[in-house]
Amino acid sequence: MNSMKKNDIFCVKIEDISEEGLGIGHIDGMAVFVKGTAVGDVADVRLVKLKKTYAFGRLERIVEPSPYRVTPDCPVADKCGGCTLQHMSYESELELKKTKVLSCLERIGGIEDPEQYLEGVFGMEDSYLRYRNKMQFPVGVKKVEKDGAEAFETAVGFYAGRTHSIIPVDDCLTGHEVNKYVIDAVKSWIDSGSVSVYDERTGKGLVRHILTRVGKKTGELMVCLVINGREVPESERLVEGLKKAVESYIHKVEEKKISVLLELKSVVLNINKESTNRIMGDRSVVLYGEDFIRDKIGDLTFRISPESFYQVNPVQTEKLYDKALEYAELTGAEDVWDMYCGIGTISLFLAKNAGKVRGVEIVPQAIEDAKKNAAENDITNAEFYVGKAEDVVNEWDAGRPDVIVVDPPRKGCDEKLLETICGAAPERVVYVSCNPATLARDLKYLIERGFKIEKLSIYDQFCRSLHVETVVKLKK
Ligand code: SAH
Repeated sequence: MNSMKKNDIFCVKIEDISEEGLGIGHIDGMAVFVKGTAVGDVADVRLVKLKKTYAFGRLERIVEPSPYRVTPDCPVADKCGGCTLQHMSYESELELKKTKVLSCLERIGGIEDPEQYLEGVFGMEDSYLRYRNKMQFPVGVKKVEKDGAEAFETAVGFYAGRTHSIIPVDDCLTGHEVNKYVIDAVKSWIDSGSVSVYDERTGKGLVRHILTRVGKKTGELMVCLVINGREVPESERLVEGLKKAVESYIHKVEEKKISVLLELKSVVLNINKESTNRIMGDRSVVLYGEDFIRDKIGDLTFRISPESFYQVNPVQTEKLYDKALEYAELTGAEDVWDMYCGIGTISLFLAKNAGKVRGVEIVPQAIEDAKKNAAENDITNAEFYVGKAEDVVNEWDAGRPDVIVVDPPRKGCDEKLLETICGAAPERVVYVSCNPATLARDLKYLIERGFKIEKLSIYDQFCRSLHVETVVKLKK
């Protein structure tokens, strides 16, 4: 072990996989973590970082491929920080996600044998590609060589893992095919005009991100440009370019005889002048069309504003919401609280079978959407409130709810909210989570105060990435 040095190359057999998706092998008994490897790979690995008891290695060459290894669908799989599991079969990806959830529940949540509650790991049935309805592409510059000299070119794509250098990607396979046309249109508007590109280091320049959203059921497309300013030059030219881009996309798919109804419904500018990692600012202005698009989940229609959260995988979302509805065990009379309700999707899904639903959400535009969504779907037994879930519930004089649903962001529930939930003592809690670690932490809190897990299900909402969604049913 003393003889090991940085840059040494060893042949390693990958025996396990970490929760972060890194392959794990051993050199002289010391664990090495290697990105981009699958269990069963035998690989030449270069040591890049040595710690006291473990090391990180870089994959140099596959000597003997694992039976679970597949060729990534995407040409920039090894560079882009987005999809880290593309080198494994979809079955082994689902297996990894299951292990990740169960081991968090056991290790962080102190839950014994969590698998006894597991109803299933539900993956995509047809294809695990092209599933996302939303994409956010950072816009920047990349250094290129032009006639022997250094030059800069507009780059649109994704961040490389752990850094903010942009890997140019024009057609991400997890997103809609129209994105490529949109990116081309924005790029040519930038390159042939007086439009600057944002530079994170200096905080100067205008265009920061391109965000697209497609209502997969309605075909409505929103293009949102996140800008470091209040307006853009030559906005008519941008809108014309985007209209043409959508036309060429439609023309292309008509040639392939695919019947999709895609329509550019909304072009907006989102204003973000802060130097933060947050992509979106709080305010948007319309350049063309409406300031929202619509989509459908089940038999409900939803309007979605640029700032509002909306689940990215509509196929899996419908299954997830059906499960949340099942876990809520509603008979038509219940009082339900939906914490972190976004545009009211889960609230309205539950309202059909509940007595009354109250939703809480921090983003004001999302609550505006939620109220309009209730009205447009003729739902009269749902009320929506803006604010922090942990604060707003304490202002209510609402009596005891029968069911509380929580669907927090990655950081999980605020402890104050968990305390309120315990005080409110509902019969059931349905916890929808996009982060097994904070889920496990919060479950521990609830279990220690008298709740019991009854069932849980895992949904693959984010195919090819490490992210995983879990829904848990708890009883008092
Ligand atoms: N249930 C919704 C949204 C879930 S995402 C759906 O399925 O679509 C989590 C939501 O919590 C986001 O809309 C985010 O804006 C909101 N949020 C984040 N912190 C919050 C807080 N402290 N109180 C209330 N809502 C919050």
